[in-house]
Amino acid sequence: MEFERINSFLESFAEDDKGGLNDIYKEAQENGVPVIRRNTKELMKLLILVAGPKRILEVGTAVGYSALVMKEAMEAACGRSENRNEMDGVGRTGGEIITIELDEDRAKEAEGNFEKILGSKDAIKLLRGDAYKVMKDMTVEEYGLFDMVFIDAAKGQYSGYFEEAMRLTKKGSIIICDNILSGGEILESHFLVEKRNRTIHDRMRSFLEEIKKDERIYTALLSVGDGMSVSVRLA
Ligand code: SAH
Ligand code: MG
Repeated sequence: MEFERINSFLESFAEDDKGGLNDIYKEAQENGVPVIRRNTKELMKLLILVAGPKRILEVGTAVGYSALVMKEAMEAACGRSENRNEMDGVGRTGGEIITIELDEDRAKEAEGNFEKILGSKDAIKLLRGDAYKVMKDMTVEEYGLFDMVFIDAAKGQYSGYFEEAMRLTKKGSIIICDNILSGGEILESHFLVEKRNRTIHDRMRSFLEEIKKDERIYTALLSVGDGMSVSVRLA
């Protein structure tokens, strides 16, 4: 596919992660863990450096790779702007990340990776369970509001995650969704796609329509990585 060639060309310029983070990326790739692509990482870092979020909620941790990428970017952003003094749960600067994962094996591995890279498994707070239910149970009183939400879990459920993300954010907050192109399959004819995936694609299409129509946000749909939507809350 021509598109894949372009993507790979651009990704060939992307920098490797430093230290242990690169090992985590490589190991995840070898084990088929669907971590963010390299150019997705570039855009995520860019958005964090530009917007300087102090509190991020991630939906879909896997082994913690993207959370660690975001953490690093928050620390880099911290030298600039007003988030200089924001601390996480264990006193590191840069700000706070809370992340949600359903799969216990992955959750454990993620915590091991947080410990390895950040020196404490609690430097990023991991909540276990079905993301939609976990989000539903998160009250603003207990968890506060987030400046950024990164949605990267079950593709058929983005609409529900998004509504909860709206409840947990405020004007100016950014909501990002990964994998909106489902490896390009969403563009294919219905008849070429497995039934289960067809339902997921139908849901994804109506989700994309929904967020484009939503007047509370401004949304750009991007072909970066496996496709991403970036929405900014206008109200
Ligand atoms: N953000 C990660 C990759 C996440 S992959 C990174 O880029 O490094 C998607 C993850 O979502 C998987 O680990 C999967 O177990 C998890 N997931 C799938 N359905 C979920 C659900 N209903 N609730 C919470 N997590 C879910
Ligand atoms: Mg993804």
